[in-house]
Amino acid sequence: MALYVQKYGGTSVGTVERIEAVADKVSGFRESGHDVVVVVSAMSGETNRLIGLANSIQDKPSAREMDVLLSTGEQVTIALLAMALEKRGVAARSYTGSQVKILTDNTHSKARIQDIEVSRMRTDLDAGRVVIVAGFQGADAEGNITTLGRGGSDTTGVALAAALKADECQIYTDVDGVYTTDPRVVEGARRLSEITFEEMLEMASLGSKVLQIRSVEFAGKYKVPLRVLSSFKDGPGTLITIEEENAVEKPVISGIAFNRDEAKLTIVGVPDIPGVASRILVPVSRANIEVDMIVQNVAADKTTDFTFTVHRNDYVRAEEILNQVAAELGAREVVGDNRIAKVSIVGVGMRSHAGVASKMFECLANENINIQMISTSEIKVSVVIAEKYLELAVRALHSAFELDKAEAVSE
Ligand code: ASP
Ligand code: MG
Repeated sequence: MALYVQKYGGTSVGTVERIEAVADKVSGFRESGHDVVVVVSAMSGETNRLIGLANSIQDKPSAREMDVLLSTGEQVTIALLAMALEKRGVAARSYTGSQVKILTDNTHSKARIQDIEVSRMRTDLDAGRVVIVAGFQGADAEGNITTLGRGGSDTTGVALAAALKADECQIYTDVDGVYTTDPRVVEGARRLSEITFEEMLEMASLGSKVLQIRSVEFAGKYKVPLRVLSSFKDGPGTLITIEEENAVEKPVISGIAFNRDEAKLTIVGVPDIPGVASRILVPVSRANIEVDMIVQNVAADKTTDFTFTVHRNDYVRAEEILNQVAAELGAREVVGDNRIAKVSIVGVGMRSHAGVASKMFECLANENINIQMISTSEIKVSVVIAEKYLELAVRALHSAFELDKAEAVSE
């Protein structure tokens, strides 16, 4: 029989009724003879409610106290789930992260897991008990409570699965898997039966929010078989695969990700001399603004244009910084646009197929959509376009790459 680590997210435990439904599911797995370790999130909305409480007292509460506060959300859920299981005659024990114990570094609010003690969980499993662990939290070497960053229960699930060498880590959520693109934008979006870790990482970092990015990195590194599935309806979900099996038979593109929260800034007419890129970007990164795509033109005369994208929330601040830099460098002007979006096609099949990027550009040209910036990696091509064309672009690409057609690989 198998050992499963099952993580249930906020909406899956959002009400007492939902917690009872999770208890039914877990008890079904126990009846089939499987061992189960359950990781839960806080009830949906709870973490935000707690943040609101903190902010009604202090604008910037200390990170240590914030972690003490936020970790309580998950502690409520583990106890309620344990009760719901006991009511069903299923033996269960709940633990906070520090009880397990999940040892982390001391970076409050985005701590990294360093070690997990499995002996206590093993004893429970051997005694036939379901182990329930609070997600998103641990404790540092001094015993201070830490949290792993928003969405961190996914990482708890994957880390426990790695430490226990579980047969599968199952992430139960409110969608029934990973889709070719957002079904709210493309009606024909299709659930993928499989996707590779690399593709999933790209999809996650490009705005497809099914899994916390760090949990995918973790699962890839420790080769934890990971499955995303719905707690609301039965189905096989999407398996995130370790090996890139039958890559030749796979579609060239696995999915289309997009991101609306982007803005671009161009500093026009900067001198084409060594050190300019760093003089532009160092002040930006010092202000803690993350830069995504960067494009520098080849100098036509002795000057060039330098363009990059930032999160839309950082647009105004980045523009202020650039205006200062532009004055120092003697650049012509700073221009920007915060009504842009990024669309990316992702697929490991790109490695073995030529002409993928040109097919994308041709498709966008046919729709009369202007491409403002392009960037590529081995398994993705991203373009920046005007935000108003986002839906049109995603739909056109979805059909151009035939993502609505059934998969070649069987389930
Ligand atoms: N409760 C935390 C959050 O809302 C962690 C999680 O749900 O994974 O971010
Ligand atoms: Mg969550």
